[in-house]
Amino acid sequence: SDMIFEYPERPSTQDWSKHYPAYFRAPSSDKDQLAKVEFADIGCGYGGLLVALAPLYPNTLMVGMEIRTKLVNYLQKRIEALRRLAPGHYENIASMRINCQKYLPNFFDKGQLSKIFVLFADPHFKRRKHKARIISSTMLAEYAYVLRPGGVFYMITDVKDLFDWNQKYLEAFPLFERIPDAELESDPAVPCVVNSTEEGKKVARNKGSKHLACYRRIEDPAES
Ligand code: SAM
Repeated sequence: SDMIFEYPERPSTQDWSKHYPAYFRAPSSDKDQLAKVEFADIGCGYGGLLVALAPLYPNTLMVGMEIRTKLVNYLQKRIEALRRLAPGHYENIASMRINCQKYLPNFFDKGQLSKIFVLFADPHFKRRKHKARIISSTMLAEYAYVLRPGGVFYMITDVKDLFDWNQKYLEAFPLFERIPDAELESDPAVPCVVNSTEEGKKVARNKGSKHLACYRRIEDPAES
């Protein structure tokens, strides 16, 4: 039940130092001076995306958020092993247990994130399970809250029905604007999104198709 989730009352009470010890070695009295997480991989599974992105964005803190304890622990061990093998590297990635449908705004300030990834999410085919899908109008409001204007929301799936569902909500949501596919060619994160997660590799092995759509968080007209 929810009791076993550890989550901060608000973002300023979240202790990130245990996740990124190399970044938080010196105790700082000024919390605003501390490095902040900028990328979140929602439902990160075994963490292939973070492992691929870590060297591409070596100065950006990224977190994988995952509901299944076994996977969270696996990824934490994987990251610790990578840090031992390549000292000074992989210090910028971490895994964390969270039900993203419940506590997301407790972890991040408004506009804190510059990238959010939802890659090969569980399809939850049955109608009565649709509420477990992690893209919905409620969830998009939370993703838009923590994502800064100009930030990017990445969505990919091999399940066409889920793609259509996700796209329907994303297109309808006023604070997201589809990025033309041609523009994605210059985004170094995109090849990782498509090829580096464990689920994405499985789809490729099975010769499945992958449907990708990326959205930019636009300025809220009510706030400008
Ligand atoms: N993104 C990874 C990949 O591409 O390899 C994993 C894909 S896997 C099919 C979907 C993951 O989302 C699972 O590991 C599942 O436990 C996680 N998940 C599902 N619902 C979640 C939720 N509400 N909060 C956090 N993670 C969730």
